[in-house]
Amino acid sequence: MSAALSSPHPAFAPMPGPANAQAVLSPLYQRVSRVIPPIEWPAFADDIDAILRLKRERNAVILAHNYMTPEIFHCVSDIVGDSLALAREAQTVQADIIVMAGVHFMAETAKMLNPDKTVLIPDLRAGCSLASSITAEDVRLMRQRYPSRPVVTYVNTSAAVKAESDICCTSGNARKIVESLGVPEVIMIPDQYLAANVARETGVKIISWAGACEVHERFTARQIRSLRAENPGVIVLAHPECPTDVVDEADFAGSTAAMSDYVTAKQPSRVVLITECSMADNIAVNHPDVDFVRPCNLCPHMKRITLPAIRAALETNTHAVTIDPAIAARARAAVERMLAI
Ligand code: SF4
Repeated sequence: MSAALSSPHPAFAPMPGPANAQAVLSPLYQRVSRVIPPIEWPAFADDIDAILRLKRERNAVILAHNYMTPEIFHCVSDIVGDSLALAREAQTVQADIIVMAGVHFMAETAKMLNPDKTVLIPDLRAGCSLASSITAEDVRLMRQRYPSRPVVTYVNTSAAVKAESDICCTSGNARKIVESLGVPEVIMIPDQYLAANVARETGVKIISWAGACEVHERFTARQIRSLRAENPGVIVLAHPECPTDVVDEADFAGSTAAMSDYVTAKQPSRVVLITECSMADNIAVNHPDVDFVRPCNLCPHMKRITLPAIRAALETNTHAVTIDPAIAARARAAVERMLAI
């Protein structure tokens, strides 16, 4: 689920300026009209107009994670997708500036793969409960305690933690990465639930860390059973950062990209995505015949990224991501090993 649009947005007629914003942007509004009420659109239109203009003037692209709100995801972004797609596409970006509409570790990954480009994160507070759960020193201690086990590190970590790792993974490729190592036991950090779900799928013994995604950890098996009782026939898709008993209650477990592919391929009449709120909004735009049940767990870190923050980032060149070159080189090696598989 990604699309590169380095030229001006096809739905945008090049008539910049606040006075024309309403008329100019109306084709964009049609795109998101199923998920953004008309009364809310005027609050977005001016920033969207300015961001599209700034992108052209500054030769910038916006990479947006699936958890961005629809006005960001559908109206100003050039490349969209899950962490894996964004990491892959970040390698191919032709632009001077990359704005990461996502959280800090994603901006670091983009910078690692594009050391000569300016990478901006619109709000430095856009962190992640998984990334903040573990340090490079923790990884070194784990290696001492469990020598000779390869360290598989979820991309939701800092560059310093990736630098201590043998290979990275995402929720979309974790099983494949672990199986590719061909060993009976690995260290997999920092998400305890992703590790438990991968251990069950692969039969590989996994030494994990006690980190968790604060969004997915909150879902419960009981909540899924209630959703099924209240919505007969609903298809349940769960993210593998959810606890194992939640995944057990689901019809399908996969990354946000895999969930999106599932909806596209199977067109369930009613579906619930057990993940962050904005994901269902963003997919719903393209699937008018699918009824999305929407239990809502917001990621407060993702929601730090707003249209005004993106506009300010492009206007003021903030906040530029920097990584110590020695750390970046080792972290990049772990990410590139993943991308090679
Ligand atoms: S949704 Fe979870 S894993 Fe993703 S950024 Fe938020 S806290 Fe981190």
